[in-house]
Formats: sequence, C-alpha cells, structure tokens
Amino acid sequence: MKNLHKIIGIAVILTTIVLMAVACDDLCSHTWVDGAVITAASCKTTGSQKRVCSKCGAEGTPKTLAIAEHNHFESLICKYTSCDHQYELGDTGPAGGIIFYVNATGFKLYQGAVTTSVNAEADNDTYITAHYLEAWTENGGTRVWSSTNVDVPQAEQEYTALGDWIGYGLRNTRIIVAALENAGENNRAAQVASSVKGGYNDWFLPSIDELYAMYIAKADPNNVAGLPAGTNWWSSSQSDDTARELNFNDGSMGATVKPNTMRNHRAVRAF
Ligand SMILES: [Zn+2]
Ligand SMILES: [Zn+2]
Repeated sequence: MKNLHKIIGIAVILTTIVLMAVACDDLCSHTWVDGAVITAASCKTTGSQKRVCSKCGAEGTPKTLAIAEHNHFESLICKYTSCDHQYELGDTGPAGGIIFYVNATGFKLYQGAVTTSVNAEADNDTYITAHYLEAWTENGGTRVWSSTNVDVPQAEQEYTALGDWIGYGLRNTRIIVAALENAGENNRAAQVASSVKGGYNDWFLPSIDELYAMYIAKADPNNVAGLPAGTNWWSSSQSDDTARELNFNDGSMGATVKPNTMRNHRAVRAF
C-alpha cells in the first residue's frame, strides 16, 4: 500500500510539472507553428500568416508571406488584382521552361480521363482551358518510343495545319504511359517526358501539332532560343507501328518504326 501511495504521489507531481509546462507561463516556452493565413500574397504584394503557440494557443507576431508567382491558371492574363502580366514567346514559364506557344483564345488541355477514341471531344474527356505551352530547358535524351510495338490507337494523329491536336499531348502521354507500363516497358520517351521537372508533375511528350508549334517558335522570324535543333524529334502522335517525328532543321514531318529507332525528345507542359 505504501508503495502505491508513493507511485500516486510521483504521478501527481509529474502531471503538475507537465501541466505547468503546457500552460506556457514562461514566454520562452511557447512553441510557434503556422496558423491561418490573414492576407494571401499576390504577385504584387506580400501576405501575412498567424503564428500560434501549439501548447497554449497564444498568438505571436504574424509572419510575412513572400510575393507570389503570377497566376495564369486558365487565364492568358495573370489573375491577381491589378496585374496585367502576360507571357511572350521565349519568356521563362512558371515551371522554368521556355514559352513557345501563346493562344489568346485558349485551347482545351485534355486530361485523359476518358480515352475511348482519338476524339477527346466525342469522348467527353475532361479538360482545362490553357493558353500557353512551355518546353523544358533540356532535351529528354535519345530513346526508342517503345521496345515492342505498343499500339495506342487513341493517339493516332496526323499533323493538321489547323492545330487540331494542340491540347492532346498530355492525354496522349497519359494513355501511352499506361500502355507502356502495361507492357512492362521502362524509360521510354513518353515516360521520361512525364517525370517531375522544375517542381511540376504535368510534363508530357508533345502531340505532332504541339511539336510543330515548337518548331515554328524556333524558326525564323520567331527565333526562340533554347528549343530543339537538328533532325528527328519524337511526338506522342502515332499510327499503328510507327510514331510521328519532326525534323527541326526544316519542319518536315515523318513517321518511324517505334521499336528500332532512337530519337531525342523534349518534354512540354501547358497552362
Ligand atoms: Zn504557449
Ligand atoms: Zn501577376
């Protein structure tokens, strides 16, 4: 019995010590964590965020939130109040890439949620409205499109002068990556193109029309620096056992057998 009283006594003392610490009577014992945002930052102004003690709930001096990036999501012009920023050809994009296509009207960036056919519109595939394409700053490397003939009929696309396949590269890539994984393939152009770069995970292998838009940005009179040079760049558009490619010397297009041909590629993203 004596021992039990001793244990209870020690427990009471320990509990009291813990409660005293939790109460933060001493200013030095607060533990500050981020609380609610008071004012969000914009591309023009800093913001502020509460600092709250996780032990006693006291509020400290708010912290300053740094000026944010421009916000062009589904908008040609930055959406923050009193900002009229737009990207021009050759500007650095939000992910650190090179802006190579600007569409003031906006285009449908298909997500590949529904992929019954090549026609995303007829499929009622989901999309967001995008205005820009940006290319990653580095080449993805020379790869085969697939090591066996992975046929992806939903990506069966020929170049159209009207740019019908602009907005299809992300959808193509998602379908192709799923088909490659299904076939046990690794490290193919579409898979490498879709890896995280610049902190963004929405990169893709461009459709043939998107790749052609990249060529136009590179060609005279646009002369955007840092885009692919030379022959034979993979697109995510295909036909049966061939995939479509583009020659960046002269803009000519071809189709090459997927398994046996090594081609370079450049990842892009849209926003
Ligand atoms: Zn406290
Ligand atoms: Zn802005």
